[in-house]
Amino acid sequence: MAVERTLSILKPDATRRNLTGKINAKFEEQGLRIVAQKRLHLSEAQAGAFYAVHKERPFYKDLVSFMTSGPVVVQVLEGENAVAKNREIMGATNPANAAPGTIRKEFAESIEANSVHGSDSAENAATEIAFFFSGTEIVG
Ligand code: ADP
Ligand code: MG
Repeated sequence: MAVERTLSILKPDATRRNLTGKINAKFEEQGLRIVAQKRLHLSEAQAGAFYAVHKERPFYKDLVSFMTSGPVVVQVLEGENAVAKNREIMGATNPANAAPGTIRKEFAESIEANSVHGSDSAENAATEIAFFFSGTEIVG
């Protein structure tokens, strides 16, 4: 399996509760390397554009408002099979369905405030990484 990169976001519910270190430890303990990271407060336009794929979903407006409610940490994770591995470490979207030991099982507050975002395919990972980072900001 090739080394891949994926885009991760620690969401406002995670920064508000000071959980960024605990979440990063999960990535690192399970073999993902943080090769880029920055703390941002997303504008409505940024959050809306990032989640444009969900524009028609009933939760879109609330999601944009949640994602702009406080700081986020955007990061690039690198490792073997990083896209799928990160989704595994995150757990299911709804924390009620997330497996024991996953980030969302341990930390998520709700299906919306579920602590982390992770790209869902290698193709989307490339687009999402480029949304937040220039090449020189990623140091593998
Ligand atoms: P994931 O983040 O697991 O890839 P989706 O891409 O389906 O999940 O949804 C994007 C984000 O939208 C979720 O992480 C969550 O914050 C929010 N969301 C998804 N489904 C719902 C829902 N039914 N109600 C409220 N918010 C939701
Ligand atoms: Mg998704």
